[in-house]
Amino acid sequence: MSASLTPRAKFATTLLRTAAALSRATGRGDGSVIGGRVGLIVEPRLLELLAEGRHVVLISGTNGKTTTTRFTTAALEAIGRVATNSFGANMPTGHTTALAKAPKAEYATLECDEHYLGQLLDAARPKVVALLNLSRDQLDRAMEVTALAAKWRQTLQASAGQTTIVANADDPLIVWAASVCERVVWVAAGQSWTADSAICPNCGAHLDRFGEFWRCTNCGLNRPSPQWSVAHQGEAVVGPDGRRYDLHLQLPGRVNRANAATALAIASLFGVDPAQAAPRLSEVASVAGRYAKVERDGRHLRLLLAKNPAGWLESFDMIDPVPPVVLSLNAREVDGFDTSWIYDVDFTSLAGRKVVVTGDRRTDLAVRLEVDGVDFLVVDDIRAAIAAVPPGPVEVVANYTAFQDVRAEFNRVN
Ligand SMILES: [Zn+2]
Repeated sequence: MSASLTPRAKFATTLLRTAAALSRATGRGDGSVIGGRVGLIVEPRLLELLAEGRHVVLISGTNGKTTTTRFTTAALEAIGRVATNSFGANMPTGHTTALAKAPKAEYATLECDEHYLGQLLDAARPKVVALLNLSRDQLDRAMEVTALAAKWRQTLQASAGQTTIVANADDPLIVWAASVCERVVWVAAGQSWTADSAICPNCGAHLDRFGEFWRCTNCGLNRPSPQWSVAHQGEAVVGPDGRRYDLHLQLPGRVNRANAATALAIASLFGVDPAQAAPRLSEVASVAGRYAKVERDGRHLRLLLAKNPAGWLESFDMIDPVPPVVLSLNAREVDGFDTSWIYDVDFTSLAGRKVVVTGDRRTDLAVRLEVDGVDFLVVDDIRAAIAAVPPGPVEVVANYTAFQDVRAEFNRVN
């Protein structure tokens, strides 16, 4: 921690904080990225130096990493101070800033972009790495998911060492990547999207599925027995000793109960009693604006972010069955320009309810809904969408920049 930093690292940290503060003051976001960049130019080993002596947790995967990071932070705060990149700056610049801002935190929970896992393993030497799931995301630029799982497998084999892996037993790609590690805690975190794991990542043969269990028909890769799972009945997590820990989450859906299970599994590795940690998770009301509730003209909007096919399916599972749904789709650079993935998503569960479509690519969505036999109304923007639904609850599902547009309309509420 900071007491043992070299003069150069201290200077780099000071510059980092100044750059981040200037960026904030000029209204250019929270300054994590620019601050980290400045710090790492002055001291290229800054991330490594700032991580030294702390208990670091890395959390990675296609979906759920921001929420799981938030839950894990809440759980670990039961026993100490925690540094975290809570606003999704999940590359080394953001990690460096998160650590620099919390010099006295003995723990660090860092959400990690899937492509930086190897770099972070080397630089931050985490005690625990949580691997949530892998599915298709940003078709036009991201690495194909099996190739990414293979890269993780190689990286973990080379660098995991004494690190404990907390991994999703329900995702074959994750199991294949993590199974090279000696110490793995398996969580039955579920898999709402199975299209990217129909075949065995190890040998290419067909995977058989029976209920929750899955198994390769050729090489025998199969679902490990999970130590942690989400209870089938009621809202609870079941721990390794079979004990139930009740959840009263404000965040909706089974997928968030699975994120909670992962967070409790991580925290228990640091000696946090899950019975003590579980109530802390219920205090989380929104995560970087996601799940936030906002009101206008008697319409009570709940804002859900869904960036890729798995995320859209998960959000349909989270929304209440009755209220109108607003879907907003953009295809700007960070979203990925290719929206053909919407044909991978089954929209039929929305049939029979009021659906309003907006965003830059609203006509793409409209065609997709037409194909699935879902009635809809196309409007220009979120204001028009609000006007098009009656007062009362409204579920809003949007991809990345579309979600930011909605937040901007409500002055970036959290
Ligand atoms: Zn196989």
